[in-house]
Amino acid sequence: MSILSLDTDIKFIKGVGEKKAAILASEAQICKIEDLINYYPYKYIDRTLFCTIREARPSLSYLQIKGRITGFRMEGDIKKKRLVAIFTDDTGLMELVWFQGIPYIQQNYSTGVEYVIFGKPNYFNGSIKILHPEIETLTEFNAKLQNKFEPAYSTTEKMKRAYMNSKMIQKLIHFVLSSACDSIHEILPPKLVERLKILPRKDAYLNIHFPSNSEMLQMAQFRLKIEELLFLQLDILKYRLTKNLKFKGFVFPTVGEQFNTFYNQHLPFDLTGAQKRVIKEIRKDLGSGRQMNRLLQGDVGSGKTLVALMCMLLAIDNGFQSAILAPTEILAQQHYKTIIEFLADMDVNCRLLTGSTKPKERKTIHKELSDGTLNIIIGTHAIFEDKVIFHNLGFVVIDEQHRFGVEQRAKMWAKNIQPPHILVMTATPIPRTLAMTLYGDLDISVIDELPPGRKPIKTIHSTDEKRLRVFNFMREEIKKGRQIYIVYPLIQESERMNYKDLEDGLESISRAFPPPEFAISVVHGKMKPEEKEKSMKMFAKGITHIMIATTVIEVGVNVPNASVMIIESAEKFGLSQLHQLRGRVGRGAEQSYCILMTPSKMSYYGQKRIETMVETNDGFRIAEVDLQLRGPGDLDGTQQSGVGIDLKISNLATDGQLVQYTRDIANEILEEDPNLDLPQNYYLKQELIKKKKTTIDWSVIS
Ligand code: ADP
Ligand code: MG
Repeated sequence: MSILSLDTDIKFIKGVGEKKAAILASEAQICKIEDLINYYPYKYIDRTLFCTIREARPSLSYLQIKGRITGFRMEGDIKKKRLVAIFTDDTGLMELVWFQGIPYIQQNYSTGVEYVIFGKPNYFNGSIKILHPEIETLTEFNAKLQNKFEPAYSTTEKMKRAYMNSKMIQKLIHFVLSSACDSIHEILPPKLVERLKILPRKDAYLNIHFPSNSEMLQMAQFRLKIEELLFLQLDILKYRLTKNLKFKGFVFPTVGEQFNTFYNQHLPFDLTGAQKRVIKEIRKDLGSGRQMNRLLQGDVGSGKTLVALMCMLLAIDNGFQSAILAPTEILAQQHYKTIIEFLADMDVNCRLLTGSTKPKERKTIHKELSDGTLNIIIGTHAIFEDKVIFHNLGFVVIDEQHRFGVEQRAKMWAKNIQPPHILVMTATPIPRTLAMTLYGDLDISVIDELPPGRKPIKTIHSTDEKRLRVFNFMREEIKKGRQIYIVYPLIQESERMNYKDLEDGLESISRAFPPPEFAISVVHGKMKPEEKEKSMKMFAKGITHIMIATTVIEVGVNVPNASVMIIESAEKFGLSQLHQLRGRVGRGAEQSYCILMTPSKMSYYGQKRIETMVETNDGFRIAEVDLQLRGPGDLDGTQQSGVGIDLKISNLATDGQLVQYTRDIANEILEEDPNLDLPQNYYLKQELIKKKKTTIDWSVIS
């Protein structure tokens, strides 16, 4: 066989072949030798430790026991035979079970011999058993140097059935590392390796799979994390550099009449410090000559819309039009209403364009957009349409970005000779280090301060048994003139069942809050848009007291008089969704409440989510916990945006500091050598080009 290199297809490794290679590729994405050595152990097992049968517990992740087999017996029927061995040490008896390879076991293992067995404990029929244990004679075992860090690799059922268990992977990697070791050369600039005091690449691979001690293991992990995150950050920053070079931005040098009139005469309150800071950050972009791509994060009610409006006034002052894109009709209407109110006495032409805009109005809008008399357009997907032509679009606000598809957003870029500035607003805060990666090519602004005078929402956890008390509380609030939301979960897989939840809920609420004293609105996904609209309006106008809904009210509803949010089966919601729902109240001057209803028994994660909600109102804190509990892949929004970051060893939730660290290093490298043309960066560039094919298309998210 020729000498192995990292690029060699794994099917050429001795003992692999076409069939196993295909399984490794489909089950573990291992195709080349390089993929194999990047298949890191998920844990290490100390093979110098033994336990006795008496000490064996089902909760242990594995058992290693010295003992003897005292007898075999066959069990089961012809279809599903199994071989059971009675295994004993001086402390007790246990069973070893095989379903496959029975003749082999019968031929090679016998009673009376001393064995070392190893495997996962299984508890059934009242006792602990090991299925398909690893088994060696004590003599064989003692002849080998036993490892304190035996690597364990994750495998799937399919892999196991093809005899590719953890042990087999270990053997493959061991073989590969000893025969292809020389092709693992350093790819980071030598000076950097020296400065960071990290292990050379080759040593890192050897020690991540076969650590010589715990210190070397840590060093190996550190080196590989740095490498992984550094390439990620290089990729992001490089993309951003290219984009900045490629897309010039309109310059807005003037702070003119519209902005000043609004600021001095119409703004009904002072801006918060955070709002001022963010406007400054945006203004800097608008003067830079580069196209702005900025993410504005801020909790519900933190005043993002106002910031967006003031930027749009700047656009008008500089001869440009602006657009606000909202994911739903309701949200678009909400924005429209807010902005029209703010602009009441000003000479700004602002219109709403959605799917239900009447043809006549639509025609006017199209005309005014193309002749430039319309300053601000607010709407939904209808704005993306090709027939919508702008005279001079300069500023686009995208609300709740992840609900828009890539292509649609790209369409906005093409609506002027140069792409307009883009401000993406989200009320789903994500921790900074994660944002830096997921939205790595966007600049980030944060509004971390609520307008003054808001009373923090009180959050209370209540169990189903205390429902009557909750009803009493509701009556009191309604008597005070307040309104109440009750939200039921809607999980896609069982939409019908949840609808039933809502229906049952409606029935019991109707009984407890009968007309004419009380009036109830209902809103759910099965209703026609007109009905939904009507029902929401009744609530918004204060005609109904209680709004029973599924999560359709998550975004967009703004009823300042509503002061109580009751969330049924709250343990079923994700943290960020709970936080969004809670944000529907606390919009007026009154003390607001969020009541989380759950059964008294919950899963660990359910419990943690509820505790977090009760403990804090801070969206960023909630996002941190969410990230810890779920990992970045599951975060709301990131899934929808189609961004999958495949990190093999680093964890964006726990390696935040390393993200920042590698970000700084990547910046340093690119500042000195933007195209990575210097000799010391040769391998860095090669690797980046190679990785590029497999990583994220960053255009997905801007
Ligand atoms: P967001 O879009 O971040 O949810 P909004 O911009 O809709 O928040 O603002 C929420 C409410 O707070 C609005 O009624 C708005 O008029 C008001 N508001 C915004 N900024 C301030 C401020 N600086 N002081 C007082 N009220 C403010
Ligand atoms: Mg808003």
